[in-house]
Amino acid sequence: MATAPKLVPGKLFINGEWRESSDGQRRDVINPATGEVASSIAWATAADVDAAVAAARAAFDKGEWSGLSGRERSRILLRVSQIMRERSDELAYAESIDVGKPITFANNVDVNTAIEQYEYVASMAQHLDGATRETPLPAFAFTRREPLGVVGAITPFNFPLILSSTKIAPALAAGNTVVHKPASDTPLTALIMADILTAAGVPAGVFNVITGSGSGLGDHLVGHPDVNKIAFTGSTEVGQHVASLAGQTLKPVTAELGGNAANILFADADLDQAIGAVISGFVFNTGQFCMAGPRLLVERPLYETVLGILGQAVPGVPVGDPLKPETVIGPLSSQVQLEKVAGIVDAAIARGARVVAGGKRMELNGGFYYETTVLADLPNDDVAVAEETFGPVLTVQPFDTEEEAIQMANSTPYGLAAGLQTGNIARAHRVSAALDAGIVWVNSWALLDPAVPFGGVKASGWGREYGPEALEAYTRTKSVVISTQA
Ligand code: NAP
Ligand code: MG
Repeated sequence: MATAPKLVPGKLFINGEWRESSDGQRRDVINPATGEVASSIAWATAADVDAAVAAARAAFDKGEWSGLSGRERSRILLRVSQIMRERSDELAYAESIDVGKPITFANNVDVNTAIEQYEYVASMAQHLDGATRETPLPAFAFTRREPLGVVGAITPFNFPLILSSTKIAPALAAGNTVVHKPASDTPLTALIMADILTAAGVPAGVFNVITGSGSGLGDHLVGHPDVNKIAFTGSTEVGQHVASLAGQTLKPVTAELGGNAANILFADADLDQAIGAVISGFVFNTGQFCMAGPRLLVERPLYETVLGILGQAVPGVPVGDPLKPETVIGPLSSQVQLEKVAGIVDAAIARGARVVAGGKRMELNGGFYYETTVLADLPNDDVAVAEETFGPVLTVQPFDTEEEAIQMANSTPYGLAAGLQTGNIARAHRVSAALDAGIVWVNSWALLDPAVPFGGVKASGWGREYGPEALEAYTRTKSVVISTQA
């Protein structure tokens, strides 16, 4: 059982200092595994947003960070990754009590992926190269890649550390400064990262954290004239609002939004491997992940067989206390999420869904637990199929042909991820090309890596995180043309 390390102060981090909010308000942080208060944070005001942006602006303009060579920034970001490794227990513990994540996954997935993101980006910081351009002009023409300025980074509750790292690491690598607003429900690792970045040598004002209400402060941050870019991950609805507001000041926006991926299981698949991909694809993080595969489409001859296997296997996946190393599935992250998931499943059952597994709340330690649930026989346009549930809920539907499976998979406004399970290599190529999504997994689910670009199409958003693309999104190209005429 993991033991509690000492957490950093629950205060705002502005210009290298821990501060209470300007009006002294604070808010509790709830542990979703118990429903009890785990910690508390300062609740920022618009004046605090102004102070954080002013600090980031001044730090950028002073050039203590933006003026360093890429190699110097690389060295500091590598040190960040090393300190994260030394403090990985503290990061994993905070992520677990904040989100309800099983500690084993918090360590192996969340903390580890975030560390690897800093390592990967640190290497790219050494290659922020421009290009020379041949031209008939009597001139020497070249490009420079320059930072954008102040980045506002807004993140959701489900992967606080990973999703802040996908923004902060490349933003800093390129020489920008950052104001980070984590989700109100899950702010703890953002505060630890402020401590770690400072310990690694990131100067005061370069990285700032404001904890507070997204709906209350978001517009102020997004519309702020001294903020040069918004990096947002969250729901499609809020992402649309953020993008349209950013449009008024023509700020570039990266928007990683909702998803509702289909996982297509063909009868020619290796069934054991496929079932593993199906189950991990909807139970991981209690189903609260944008690239989950909550819509299983099964080739009709296998439909009842697969339902039978899922009905046996799913209840056996250990749900429980996230701080126990053997736990695979934790609670939902908040009472609000629990109510939302319970409402969607209750309504689907009332409309005639067949319950293959689960289907109700779980009483456990006062936490926000829900049974791991599999529903069958719902039509493609049922809301439980068509909308993002964001819980441990799988819907299963049969299909007859490859064309029908592709059509069903693409029949969603979202386009973040998709997947197929097949033993036929030609089909793997054909179907992955036809799926309208930013990433497609074949014979697996949710294999992610800092080197592999990740992001959505359609209502799942704009831009890519990870890969070399990540750094592109935090630089602008300047062309310089120097006359060669005397
Ligand atoms: P959310 O409600 O959209 O909130 C995301 C962030 O935006 C939070 O920090 C929130 O602050 C803030 N916010 C709320 N209103 C705002 C406004 N008007 N202006 C600016 N910021 C505002 O999303 P969530 O419920 O935390 O997260 C779940 C969603 O994120 C799902 O739809 C999921 O699919 C999506 N997601 C997408 C990806 C991806 O990479 N595509 C990854 C993970 C999650 P408060 O917490 O204070 O409200
Ligand atoms: Mg919480």
